[in-house]
Amino acid sequence: MARAFIALGSNLSNPGRQPADEVRLALRELDTLTDTRLLSHSSLYRTAPVGYDNQPDFINAVAELETSLSPLALLHAILALENQHGRERPFPNAPRVLDLDVLLYDQVSISSPELTVPHPRMHERGFVLLPLAEIAPELALAAHGKVSTLAVQCADQGVEKLEENAL
Ligand code: AMP
Repeated sequence: MARAFIALGSNLSNPGRQPADEVRLALRELDTLTDTRLLSHSSLYRTAPVGYDNQPDFINAVAELETSLSPLALLHAILALENQHGRERPFPNAPRVLDLDVLLYDQVSISSPELTVPHPRMHERGFVLLPLAEIAPELALAAHGKVSTLAVQCADQGVEKLEENAL
């Protein structure tokens, strides 16, 4: 079995739901993937958009999975979940109902056209590092150091942890 970390994000939602509902539902769905179990997940966080500013804030979280899916099979499974939520890609960095990324898969390093692991921008993104530090502070990113240290360096990125009753 491998231990994998997945980043979740949403700033749009299906009728009758909020982005936080899309993320909560996706966390439950990750636990139902074939040969996969949800080990833990972070709180939900609110984040100002990065890359394309004229869009709503994001709700973000990170999940820790135990899985016997291969990295590529895991990627395909989470892309299928995105599609299930009605994810569309009109332009880069567009608002999205659900974005799921493979952050880490054990100590595996992959650089292929379809999948790059560890995720190439995770070490500088507060919306990934703050939730990840909540569930795995001791984890180290080979090229960049300890997750908890990297998270402190992102304290000025406007990533806000949501209290349970604020969701
Ligand atoms: P997006 O959903 O816009 O973030 O981009 C999804 C595409 O990025 C997928 O079709 C993947 O092939 C590619 N990709 C490369 N590395 C990763 C990764 N670590 N996690 C998720 N998608 C990835």
